Amino acid sequence: MSDVSEDSVRKEVRSWLEANWNPELGLVEWRNKLIDAGWGAPTWPKAWHGRELSPALAGVVDQEMRRIGAVGVAASGPRNLASATLLAHGSDFLKGKFLRRCLTGEDGWCQLFSEPGNGSDLAGAMTRADLKDGMWIVNGQKVWTTSAHHADFGLLVARTNWDVPKHKGLSYFIIAMHQPGVQVHPLKQLNGHASFNQVFFSDAKIEPDHLVGELGGGWAVATTTLMHERRGFDPGSGRGAAPPPKRIGPIYEEERRENETAMEPYKWYPQRAGRVDLILSRASETGRIKDPVVRQEIAKLLTMSKSVEWTARRARAAMAEGRAPGPEGSLGKLAASNVARAANRVHTLISGADAMLSGEDGPLDGIIAEILISTPAISIAGGTDEIQKNIISERVLGMPKEPSEFDGKPYRDVPKNVIG
Ligand SMILES: Cc1cc2nc3c(=O)[nH]c(=O)nc-3n(C[C@H](O)[C@H](O)[C@H](O)COP(=O)(O)OP(=O)(O)OC[C@H]3O[C@@H](n4cnc5c(N)ncnc54)[C@H](O)[C@@H]3O)c2cc1C
Repeated sequence: MSDVSEDSVRKEVRSWLEANWNPELGLVEWRNKLIDAGWGAPTWPKAWHGRELSPALAGVVDQEMRRIGAVGVAASGPRNLASATLLAHGSDFLKGKFLRRCLTGEDGWCQLFSEPGNGSDLAGAMTRADLKDGMWIVNGQKVWTTSAHHADFGLLVARTNWDVPKHKGLSYFIIAMHQPGVQVHPLKQLNGHASFNQVFFSDAKIEPDHLVGELGGGWAVATTTLMHERRGFDPGSGRGAAPPPKRIGPIYEEERRENETAMEPYKWYPQRAGRVDLILSRASETGRIKDPVVRQEIAKLLTMSKSVEWTARRARAAMAEGRAPGPEGSLGKLAASNVARAANRVHTLISGADAMLSGEDGPLDGIIAEILISTPAISIAGGTDEIQKNIISERVLGMPKEPSEFDGKPYRDVPKNVIG
């Protein structure tokens, strides 16, 4: 943890930006400059493009960047999971190959965890990687893979050993998505978007140095990714936040195009979180604010939403003190699901049957209808509510794990949910 003061960071970054910020540069060129100076990812280790600043001091850097209108590093979903996981578990080779490009935004990423028969039970993954002639050969199927259709690399959990208990036979790899053995098929969702894909591997190849962590240590690496993902559900994490004000110039145009592609799968994420921000204005516009029952439900929702926000702030403060992500990610994620469900109910109370109208015919051009059909996703993505409850019961409340007659058995001998 750094002992530098807020004033000294502000002064240093301000004078650096005044000397270096140049909106005429290309996006990647500018980001490389920012990264070289350590201001692109100021919380990261000094050895890997950072300055080891606390998140609070990194916030000062953000303020100064915004003040001058400077563009920051790339920072969207799976790319952030890749860098967080590599920082924790990657070899120097992998850090050197990928971390800078995560920040410049040159590579797109996806998370290849869930399978048709193994979502909650991620440790039961059936996609296999076998070492043949010095290469890992991957066969199997993943599903629900957000952004796979524009990803260059994937974070893959695959089985490398069938003769040990299921959690111990997994390994974690980085796989190149653009190769003949990888096929990506988009899936159309109930709300009309197509964020997810099925991904099929048929003799896809991975170089041995693209193993992340130990062979057979994939479960621990995947847990790191998931803890970071669950933290991303907190209301202050920026997902679904309003876009920055329109800025004119070629670098902004490049950034806007990048965001359009990278954020396209997440367009509906603000709706899946329940859009609590719309509740009061909708209640006033429709006159429903005069109904005491509606007012009572709004008060309950806003109370819940505020307390979730404060819990998330506590988690961020813990992180600022240098604590590793822990079960508060699960608490926050479960709370976010509860808020989304409550918001869904209150929107329905306010809009009545009109809430079911989609597109231009519906309130707010169909946004309310999109909220109603999108909120269920928040209690599934990144681990379902029930899984978060299991984690909280075991890791926070100290309750015993649910026993299974297959605990400790080689995975080969465990009955599986597949035919053949
Ligand atoms: C918006 C969104 C984005 C996603 N993006 C990705 C992605 O990019 N990459 C990726 O790999 N996956 C992704 N997923 C998949 C997601 O992680 C899985 O859907 C999730 O883990 C649940 O798995 P499943 O769908 O197989 O449900 P199942 O595991 O089949 O669960 C079905 C039901 O059984 C319950 N259940 C299962 N096990 C238990 C248990 N032990 N105790 C109590 N109840 C249990 C569940 O809570 C659920 O209600 C995404 C999902 C969504 C909705």
